[in-house]
Amino acid sequence: MGSESQSSSPSLDLLQEQIPVKQQPLVLSNNFKTGLVLVDIINGFCTVGSGNLAPKQHDKQVTKMVEESVRLSKVFADKNWPIFAYLDSHHPHIPEPPYPPHCLVGSDETKFVPELLWLENEPNATLRRKDCIDGFIGSYEKDGSNVFIDWVKSNQIKQVLVCGICTDICVLDFTCSVLSARNRGFLSPLENVIVASQACTTYDLPPHVAKTGKDLVSHPQALMHHVGLYIAWGRGAQIVSDVSFE
Ligand SMILES: [Zn+2]
Repeated sequence: MGSESQSSSPSLDLLQEQIPVKQQPLVLSNNFKTGLVLVDIINGFCTVGSGNLAPKQHDKQVTKMVEESVRLSKVFADKNWPIFAYLDSHHPHIPEPPYPPHCLVGSDETKFVPELLWLENEPNATLRRKDCIDGFIGSYEKDGSNVFIDWVKSNQIKQVLVCGICTDICVLDFTCSVLSARNRGFLSPLENVIVASQACTTYDLPPHVAKTGKDLVSHPQALMHHVGLYIAWGRGAQIVSDVSFE
C-alpha cells in the first residue's frame, strides 16, 4: 500500500528494494488523543492550472491524496478531534528560492481545495498561513511563541497524523522539525509523529520533461514520494498505510 500503490516502475522497484519503507496500518482510538495536521492542501499545489506550482494536468496521486485527506478530516471533525491546517501564503516581494512565485497572499492559490473549504468554518480546525517551507518554523510568532506548540499543548495531543503535499518537501521538513522539537521536550505531551502515506504525495516532473528545459530539475513523483517517506522514517516518524478508526 502507500508508495507501493503509486504507479510501478523498475526504478521504484529498485528503490523499494534498496531503501524500503516499513508501513503499517493505523487504528485510531478515542483513548489516545490524536491531532490531524494538513500541509498545504490548497489550490496552488493541488488544483490543475492554479499557478506555477500546481499540477499542469490531472494528477492521479494528487487526487488520491486530496480524497484521503478529506476523508480523514471529516472523521476528525465528526469526532471533535483537533485539526491543524497549513496554507502556504507568500508576500510578492519575498521570494522562496528555488521555487518560482506561488501562493501569493490573497490569491485563490492560498485557499483550500474546494473539497476542504468547509474547514474555514470548522471550530476544531486551527488554520495557519505560513510563508516558508517548514510549517513548524512557520508557526513562530514575532514574540517567540509558536502556534503549533500551543495547539499541541492546549489540546493535550499525544500523536499527530500528518497529511499533505509535498511528501519530500513541506511534509518532510515539518515532520523532521516536530520530531526534533519533541525530542527536546518542547512538545509535551506529544509522543508519536505519524505520516499517512496515502494522504501525502509530491509533484511530478519526470526526467524526460526535465530534459526539455535548461532550468528544469527532474523530480519523478513516485520516487520522491518514497524518498520523502524513507527520510521521515529515518528521523523517527512512523509511516502508516491505511488509517481506520476504532
Ligand atoms: Zn511556498
